[in-house]
Amino acid sequence: MGRPGRPGHSRTVEGVDALADLDHRIADCRACPRLVDWREEVARTKRAAFADWTYWGRPVPGFGPPDARLLIVGLAPAAHGGNRTGRMFTGDRSGDVLYQALYDVGLASRPTSVTADDGLELYGVRVTSPVHCAPPANKPTPGERDACRPWLSQELRLLRPTLRAVVVLGAFGWQAALPVFAEAGWSVPRPRPAFGHGTRVPLDGLDLFGCYHVSQRNTFTGRLTPAMLRDVLRTAAESAGLPCVNGATGPS
Ligand code: SF4
Repeated sequence: MGRPGRPGHSRTVEGVDALADLDHRIADCRACPRLVDWREEVARTKRAAFADWTYWGRPVPGFGPPDARLLIVGLAPAAHGGNRTGRMFTGDRSGDVLYQALYDVGLASRPTSVTADDGLELYGVRVTSPVHCAPPANKPTPGERDACRPWLSQELRLLRPTLRAVVVLGAFGWQAALPVFAEAGWSVPRPRPAFGHGTRVPLDGLDLFGCYHVSQRNTFTGRLTPAMLRDVLRTAAESAGLPCVNGATGPS
């Protein structure tokens, strides 16, 4: 089956500029002293395999078009992934799994995400996180999560005109994201819906989906298989009105 075409940009120039401006401001943020120290120390000391890299070492903004209909929300950039390359889920094993699945269902132009200038395009999809700096042990503190909340809140407000579905990866991302949807103006049920793989929660104007995180802990153990990830992405894409590939593509 052929791959679907890219949806046309329907946003106003103001909306596009506002999101680009937001991304620039995020990349300059130094609000969390512990995370600033960590991201910059990792960038200085590096991993041996990336010794010849100049690490990004800054907050990693969202990636994808400003008229996205589907948003994927992770947790935080990886120390030697996004913190190295400057793009969400780029240059690490989690990203390998995510972008392969997006490609398999027709939402990405290529199956790999290696560097920020590798030409990868996402079709109607944007990828972001509730915490934009790589945290030690992949664990931001509640204070750091709260400090970063306004960035996601602003991103959601800017995406709202086109946004129709959101896939949240993992329970931490779920717990961090729900209050942000409430803050950005969506009616989030009380008590807050619990996270689960395949959970689908209608919020006004969009559907929120839960999906196990694409971390190696889940993908190496088979808790999250490529087929499970593709199923959630396909369902979310259909909910968002995005064309996607429905055949059985890729490994199970
Ligand atoms: S985690 Fe968010 S709020 Fe904290 S320094 Fe990074 S971008 Fe700024």
